[in-house]
Amino acid sequence: MRKHSPELASALHAVAEACIVTRLIQSDLDQIQQLTKNDRSPVTVADFAAQAIVGLRLTDDLGAVALVGEETATDLRALKSDSLPRAITRSVRHIRPKISDQAVLDAIDLGNHSAKATAYWTLDPVDGTKGFLRRGQYAVSLALIENGEVQLAVLGCPNLSSNFDRSFDDPDPIGCIYYARLGEGAWFLPANDIYREPTPINASTEINLDALRVCESVETAHSKQSDTARIIKYLKATSKPFRLDSQCKYAIVGRGQADAYLRFPTGVGYVEKIWDHAAGMLIAQEAGAVVTDMLGNPLDFSKGKTLSANQGVVCTAPSIDSRIIESIKSLGIRP
Ligand code: AMP
Ligand code: MG
Repeated sequence: MRKHSPELASALHAVAEACIVTRLIQSDLDQIQQLTKNDRSPVTVADFAAQAIVGLRLTDDLGAVALVGEETATDLRALKSDSLPRAITRSVRHIRPKISDQAVLDAIDLGNHSAKATAYWTLDPVDGTKGFLRRGQYAVSLALIENGEVQLAVLGCPNLSSNFDRSFDDPDPIGCIYYARLGEGAWFLPANDIYREPTPINASTEINLDALRVCESVETAHSKQSDTARIIKYLKATSKPFRLDSQCKYAIVGRGQADAYLRFPTGVGYVEKIWDHAAGMLIAQEAGAVVTDMLGNPLDFSKGKTLSANQGVVCTAPSIDSRIIESIKSLGIRP
């Protein structure tokens, strides 16, 4: 068994536990309760339960940690009915059998740290909630940021198969976990056995331009799909992009299954959040891929909770990176 640093060991354990619980919740999706946040995005029992589980694991293993999570218990505490908080507690109890409702709310709020600390973890407990709700792809995304640089990343992809032939729409019974440390490569583990010897992953080195494999968001509100189509046409490729939710797209490029993941602004002034990119970016980069914004600039994680210095994301196999940035410029695609 590989000996990991305490931070990585804890992060792997935390994400694996969160994957167990999100998977259990998904198996009973008809029962699922959700809230709609102010930005109209859905948040479910799974998002809250996974955030509580990750916060508790990191704190148990590492002591008090600075955690910047996507969710907060504020809205839950204000609810008149306790049915959603109770459902969350029932889910967390798969991992923490004796935990109380109150302790679960407090555990969710472990993620309320500000993103101004020198070092902090960032968590998206269920990235791609819409994918989760349609039984598609989603991810548990955890990363450690120090001095504005992503140092460590763990990405749980519970529905993603290690078999490249399995459709993304067909949830895998095991799932994948990818992890990376800055300068130490990117690695795969099956989601049900994190103590196994990890396997390295690598972005593709040979590109067949005609059959260029590009992935993008399912949600048209998250990425301007017509811009992706223009790039493919400009490069004279005849392929169609494939679509999946969440940061699984970074893993798909990192493991050489796609040549590019493109994300273009839809013109509504949305600013990307750090927890939607930190883990995926490091994993793809450590696998040899190039990750920039749509202008070719590195993603800047030194600005707090958002990637306010960047617009769009271009994650590609190294040999195609400059051609894609060039196409964006030539086609006049702008933020
Ligand atoms: P994806 O599954 O790749 O489509 O991305 C899911 C993430 O998109 C969610 O975690 C949201 O935070 C984020 N998101 C929400 N609205 C937008 C938007 N207008 N543009 C880009 N991303 C968005
Ligand atoms: Mg997200």
